[in-house]
Amino acid sequence: MDDCIFCKIIKGEIPSKKFYEDELMIIIEDISPKAEKHYLAIPKKHYKLFTDMTEEDGINLGKCIRKIGELAPSLGLENGFRFVINQGDDAEQTVFHLHMHLLGGQKLTSCDFRKNAKKQ
Ligand code: AMP
Ligand code: ZN
Repeated sequence: MDDCIFCKIIKGEIPSKKFYEDELMIIIEDISPKAEKHYLAIPKKHYKLFTDMTEEDGINLGKCIRKIGELAPSLGLENGFRFVINQGDDAEQTVFHLHMHLLGGQKLTSCDFRKNAKKQ
């Protein structure tokens, strides 16, 4: 999608701190981290919502999730992490390209998903 920020990051048109890339997804650092470690795992295919997913998209998303589990220790998430997908208006989704938030590197008891951890 031409006006999608994550598509532009995937294409390298907007810079990002990239930790991983394969044929299905990239993992980057969130620009406004809500925890000590905050990554975005972004499937390369553009679609907005769970409910937009085709069967093939679902299979590929499953592969991405398995890979995230494998990569977690190398991302500093060996003690656990929170896995969040914001879907739609009530979840205040702001980027309309499906993505998974990986939050960790700390106890998440007081983690406020909408508050930048660096400004707390
Ligand atoms: P959501 O609110 O679930 O749609 O999440 C969008 C996330 O993308 C937010 O946590 C933003 O901080 C993050 N974000 C927006 N622009 C960028 C960018 N250029 N690089 C990295 N993360 C970004
Ligand atoms: Zn996109």
